[in-house]
Amino acid sequence: MTGRPAEARAAGHRPGDPNGYEVVIGLEVHCQLRTASKLFSPAPVVYDREPNHSVHPICLGLPGVLPVLNGHAVELAIRAGLATHCSVHECSIFARKNYFYPDLPKGYQISQFEEPLATGGWIELLAGEGEVAERRRIGLTRIHMEEDAGKSIHDASIAGHGTQVDLNRAGVPLLEIVSEPELRSPAEAGNYLRTLRGILRYIDVSDADLEKGQFRCDANLSLRAKGAAQLGTRTELKNLNSFRFVEEALEAEIERQAALLDAGEPVLQATMAYDSVTRRTRVLRLKENADDYRYFPDPDLVPLRLSPEQIERVRGELPELAEAKRVRFETQYGLSGYDARLLTESRTLADFFEATVAAYGPAKPVANWILRDVLQALGVQEREIEAAALTPETLACLIRLVDTGRTTAKGARSLVPELVERGGDPEALVRERGIEAVADSGTLEPAVDEVLAAHGDDVERYRGGEKRVLNFLMGQVMKKTGGKADPGAVREILARKLDG
Ligand code: ADP
Ligand code: MG
Repeated sequence: MTGRPAEARAAGHRPGDPNGYEVVIGLEVHCQLRTASKLFSPAPVVYDREPNHSVHPICLGLPGVLPVLNGHAVELAIRAGLATHCSVHECSIFARKNYFYPDLPKGYQISQFEEPLATGGWIELLAGEGEVAERRRIGLTRIHMEEDAGKSIHDASIAGHGTQVDLNRAGVPLLEIVSEPELRSPAEAGNYLRTLRGILRYIDVSDADLEKGQFRCDANLSLRAKGAAQLGTRTELKNLNSFRFVEEALEAEIERQAALLDAGEPVLQATMAYDSVTRRTRVLRLKENADDYRYFPDPDLVPLRLSPEQIERVRGELPELAEAKRVRFETQYGLSGYDARLLTESRTLADFFEATVAAYGPAKPVANWILRDVLQALGVQEREIEAAALTPETLACLIRLVDTGRTTAKGARSLVPELVERGGDPEALVRERGIEAVADSGTLEPAVDEVLAAHGDDVERYRGGEKRVLNFLMGQVMKKTGGKADPGAVREILARKLDG
């Protein structure tokens, strides 16, 4: 696709302004399966160990070795296919993808090519919040299994020369999940990645930890004139390892392509890298095609055959997924769609919520405490709920201390960050911090009397029917007691004195 689209010209289009174009994005995600050993060898999957600690002759492709497929990896791959509404095929084929790389000792990578494990699925994205949230389905072209390569370590401080090879990662099982070119903006691409990661974690297929390289993305992008039927030429942004970089890189690449198209120059199919410092993309190599890899079925491996019973058994073992849980939370606990969605975004958070409700009782206050205070503390501490010291029982106990007037809501909230970080006994903490609510009338009565004496006008207004004034007077008493008064007790004393 070359040339400048008529719509763009008519709209008084600035060079590099993407507004005249439709953005088309398709993502390839590589996700590490959560297995104990590698895809075709018994070497354990390790992270952060000394280089070449976990290698086996199969990972090295030594003469005479034969790959043996990891059955658990297959189960996990089936699970991922089913959870994303794919057809999981009873027969799929492992192929050799041939290329040279220093960290690929066999000279080929075992992948699936013409006959992948699963095809034709979709995931649903939710955009926007609350009742106005919009749903959009993004098609999945395919999900296949493959092995990871090793790592080249470029380190100038190493004696002799700078580059060494670590094969701990060689042969680690990956899923490649390829989307249709249906994403329409960098933000939507980010949403897709977060949603997909959420699904894979929900079904225990992968930890999908970005920092450990367990969830990586290549992003394909093209532009076309709005309304055009044909796709433009794509470029592929390689190895983006954070959601923010994916969005930034796509923004930069949209600008680069738009400027080319505006100038009447063609976009060349290429593999690109993104530099997060200059915030620009640059061409690494003009794009290779599938033919370049000389794929052929791996003669060492028989076709992977699954029985319909095996596929159905895996389907039966799938846990409740986020969407189903969200609907259940709305009906079972009477939560708003928005709250239910936030609580079900991660399975551990949803489990934490349900365990707290079991320990406490009513669901709505539990949802409020989690969505407001707990999530805030987790955010500040950059922690996920599974890494928090707070337990459901502790949170239930904390909320009860407010209900029974032992401390104020404000006092209890001030303890949440500490409980999330270190845990502890809320009752003891309330005592230690001196944040018990003051409820005894010996302390509260004089405070109330002083407030009433100082605000005679407001007392008149209240007695004249302006019942809202009570809240103002309550506020004054709370202030006078340094926020420590039990609001229930204050309200009672005030009402008695005003109405009595
Ligand atoms: P390759 O391995 O050669 O990159 P794949 O088929 O594995 O090819 O992945 C192609 C990816 O590029 C898919 O996610 C697909 O949606 C996306 N894609 C294909 N054509 C375009 C295009 N014209 N514009 C944007 N994305 C595209
Ligand atoms: Mg690919």
